[in-house]
Amino acid sequence: MKYLVLLVVLVLGYAWWRAQRRAEKPRHTPPPAVPAPQDMVACAHCGVHLPRTESVTHGPRSYCCAEHQRKDAH
Ligand SMILES: [Zn+2]
Repeated sequence: MKYLVLLVVLVLGYAWWRAQRRAEKPRHTPPPAVPAPQDMVACAHCGVHLPRTESVTHGPRSYCCAEHQRKDAH
């Protein structure tokens, strides 16, 4: 019975310690900057998704690189 009480105290102490650590964390590290949502497009050749600003746009179709744009044209 004595050991059971000791175990409960240890578990509660560990839980309290974990809760304290979790509560303190945001104060020490600023929340990660959330990148602005970007318009994603899929490469019409290989299907990889990438931001529209990094894609090679050819008419209504978008490609991940100029090579895929060239390959799809033929
Ligand atoms: Zn591609």
